[in-house]
Amino acid sequence: MLLTQDPDATFPARADVVVIGGGVVGVTAALFLARAGVSVVLVEKGRVAAEQSSRNWGWIRKQGRDPIELPLMIESEREWKSIAAPIAKEIRMAVVGTTYLAMDDAEFAARRDWVESARGFQLDCKVLGSAETDALLGRDDRRFKGAIHTASDMTAEPGLAVPALGRLAREAGAIVIEGCAARGVEHSGGRVSHVVTERGPIACDSVILGGGAWSRTFLENMGIFIPQLGVRSTVLRTTPGPEIHPGGLGATSASLRRRGDGGYTIGRTHAARFDLIPAAFRHFRAYIPQMKLRWNTMQLRAGTEFFGDLGHGRWSLDQESPFERTRVLDPGPNTALARNMLTSAKALHPQLGNIQIAGTWAGMIDVTPDELPIIDEMPGCAGLWVATGLSGHGFGIGPGVGRVVAELATGRNPIVDTAPFALSRFAT
Ligand SMILES: Cc1cc2nc3c(=O)[nH]c(=O)nc-3n(C[C@H](O)[C@H](O)[C@H](O)COP(=O)(O)OP(=O)(O)OC[C@H]3O[C@@H](n4cnc5c(N)ncnc54)[C@H](O)[C@@H]3O)c2cc1C
Repeated sequence: MLLTQDPDATFPARADVVVIGGGVVGVTAALFLARAGVSVVLVEKGRVAAEQSSRNWGWIRKQGRDPIELPLMIESEREWKSIAAPIAKEIRMAVVGTTYLAMDDAEFAARRDWVESARGFQLDCKVLGSAETDALLGRDDRRFKGAIHTASDMTAEPGLAVPALGRLAREAGAIVIEGCAARGVEHSGGRVSHVVTERGPIACDSVILGGGAWSRTFLENMGIFIPQLGVRSTVLRTTPGPEIHPGGLGATSASLRRRGDGGYTIGRTHAARFDLIPAAFRHFRAYIPQMKLRWNTMQLRAGTEFFGDLGHGRWSLDQESPFERTRVLDPGPNTALARNMLTSAKALHPQLGNIQIAGTWAGMIDVTPDELPIIDEMPGCAGLWVATGLSGHGFGIGPGVGRVVAELATGRNPIVDTAPFALSRFAT
């Protein structure tokens, strides 16, 4: 769906806030700003939600999150329920629960440890024994050691949800311009003055960069370095099959979400390809702990596409930028992995019967070393707010991030303390 303003409309010369990037962070930030009466222009180099925000699994979950992120996620869930209420049916948003299965004692203990770590948040997560897990899934073979289950978690169809939120932002008064890359930010006296786009400059008081996997490249051109790398992740959707769980059903070898069309979206956590690009070497040390944890499931490849080319060189703001050369980051899926994930899903859940692959795709996940977002004002450039690095679980938390960064960019107190997401945590 194109959200672009009328092509004959005059290009805006000024806004209170310019938002760069039309993913879930950018569109929800624009929506909150517009509803607060702030004049806001969102520029998107390609199409709204054409990158991670439409390619994800569609889980809106509290379960399994780092406790540091839980206050923001709890707020984000409230935002989903409030801002998306009028479009809930259209985007297939529903409270359908998340369940993480455990195959053995060690996995069960790790799942229970998470429940313990989240106890202070008074969530409705429950530990289920083997028989209770079977009862939930309508089977009776004691295949699983147990599970953890959070009934209040939700899902939505990402490819419908984020464009619809973009439409709400526009209806609220935000100017949303697709096919318009921001090349950089100009500042004077240490404060942002303009966003320079391929269609001309927009004067502004504040900028919100929600550039997903491109944020690092954008900032490096300004001499600002953030640790953020791209990890390519493959997903498949299936033909319709019987319902074995209405929401998100996670297991190490295959995780499923029931789709509105009766099929499943299937992926495998951490089965991702990490592209070794120049920035990977620059930030390598920071990522070593993460790599040790994921070593068995991660593939390392010399990455020459997309970021490979972006890792080199700088551009000036009157030149074509990398963002104009790649309007939509569309990495190829690993089809062998997709077939393997479907086989694993069927082995775990024989009730799925003979469902087949109906489509595959991949997304480039932007990951920080601690897998938590960066939400902060950039050093030396007052008024430039960055909300990025949502590290593979930003669909659920996106509206919360959009809200707090909108509040910060307009000088208000954020509804959730963002100190844990400061860039300075990587200083050492
Ligand atoms: C396979 C996969 C599965 C996932 N599953 C889940 C899940 O189930 N639950 C969950 O919570 N999260 C999930 N995620 C993560 C989630 O999708 C992301 O964290 C979230 O969508 C990130 O949103 P964003 O707005 O930060 O970035 P994006 O959605 O990537 O949007 C960034 C946008 O900025 C634009 N842009 C960049 N630079 C410029 C520029 N210079 N000028 C103009 N525009 C620019 C890009 O074109 C892009 O549209 C998954 C991700 C993937 C890839």
